[in-house]
Amino acid sequence: MKNLELDLGERSYPIFIAPGILADGALWLKYIAGSQVCIVSNDTIAPLYLADLKAQLSEKNVCEVILPDGEAHKTLAVLEQVFDTLLANNHNRSTTLIALGGGVVGDMCGFAAACYQRGVQFIQIPTSLLAMVDSSVGGKTGVNHPLGKNMIGAFHQPNCVLADLNVLKTLSDREFSAGMAEVIKYGLICDAEFFGWLEQNIAGLMARDAELLSEAVYRCCENKATVVAEDEREGGRRAILNLGHTFGHAIETAEGYGNWLHGEAVAAGTALALALSVKLAWLAPDVAARGVALLEQAGLPVEPPSNMNVDQFLQLMGRDKKVVDGRLRLVLLVGLGEAVVTSEASIEIITEVLLAAGV
Ligand code: NAD
Ligand code: MG
Repeated sequence: MKNLELDLGERSYPIFIAPGILADGALWLKYIAGSQVCIVSNDTIAPLYLADLKAQLSEKNVCEVILPDGEAHKTLAVLEQVFDTLLANNHNRSTTLIALGGGVVGDMCGFAAACYQRGVQFIQIPTSLLAMVDSSVGGKTGVNHPLGKNMIGAFHQPNCVLADLNVLKTLSDREFSAGMAEVIKYGLICDAEFFGWLEQNIAGLMARDAELLSEAVYRCCENKATVVAEDEREGGRRAILNLGHTFGHAIETAEGYGNWLHGEAVAAGTALALALSVKLAWLAPDVAARGVALLEQAGLPVEPPSNMNVDQFLQLMGRDKKVVDGRLRLVLLVGLGEAVVTSEASIEIITEVLLAAGV
């Protein structure tokens, strides 16, 4: 068992990382204060793990909401199902919501918890690699709008995060790779030593070696916890977690949510951010090449989709939240493990990099 704590004063919470903790209620039942519990999951994950979870909650008054699977359903309209179920079952302010699923379920359940009766408690049980290393930690919650991803949301921290490594066994190869995009991100932005460790261990990780996975999830959560503890509401440094995400969000929006997975779009976006960092002469070309090579070894795309053009990219990137005074704010690297948030890249130079990447 590996534990760490996200230090946010009175909103601090533990992150438990171990195989089998889903079935170890003795460890985590103390994070549920009241008797009412509402589990939010989806129609892929519920058949696999809902019964195991409910078996630990036999003393509680439990209801459940099974959402349709997929990023396309991460909408306000679908979120209503959670509120309908909570109200129909007379859940009060002492209820605890439990997110059992990937990042979509986690973001939606967290946002429902932020909104229901102006805020109730919730627990994250991330089941995808991406959710374990990224979305379940840090308190960002929300849903998509047709005009932009994650445009409707709130900051709302969970009571605890339970990462049960056993559940990764049922994750598809494609989704596993998508999670690796965020894993590699931490090495690039803030942990050069971890990046080197990933290069050494990429084959074992892709084979889902349990020990290696446990170490990787821990290192990612540790890095994320450190960044979030410094800047919970993304006034500054937290934005480095968005490496590749401004380009990536443009790809996701252009291609339609779900056609390119978030992690895939982030991988292609990261390759663009690395190229831009090199173009500005901030990053050595060999470091960028190592980043791209590792993403490729993780089975990820490193080129933007062939059907997007520069105007589309720039327009969609401009709609991303990371825009200040008409200049794109981007996360770029000034070294391995050293990211900066900058608006110094001109539209002209971004255009050159996009064209060079075949856009
Ligand atoms: P996802 O939730 O859609 O899960 C991916 C797929 O894997 C789904 O089909 C899901 O049902 C399935 N799945 C999940 N766990 C499984 C398991 N153990 N076994 C079998 N199938 C399983 O996508 P994701 O990649 O987990 O998360 C992406 C979402 O997370 C995006 O909406 C993104 O915006 C959000 N996100 C949020 C934050 C944040 O800070 N809140 C950070 C990063 C990403
Ligand atoms: Mg992300």
